[in-house]
Amino acid sequence: MQKYVCKVCGYVYDPEEGDPDSGIEAGTPFEQIPDDWCCPVCGVSKEDFEPEN
Ligand SMILES: [Zn+2]
Repeated sequence: MQKYVCKVCGYVYDPEEGDPDSGIEAGTPFEQIPDDWCCPVCGVSKEDFEPEN
């Protein structure tokens, strides 16, 4: 699955791991994360993420 990178701090969202601390289960594609989710490191919104090459 496609990983996404935070353009601000470099945090990588890995769908295989999810973001359990924010209630995002492992296996959740980035596209299916709720729009009110934010970067667990720096707090920016999904709009500030881009697909990892
Ligand atoms: Zn960030």
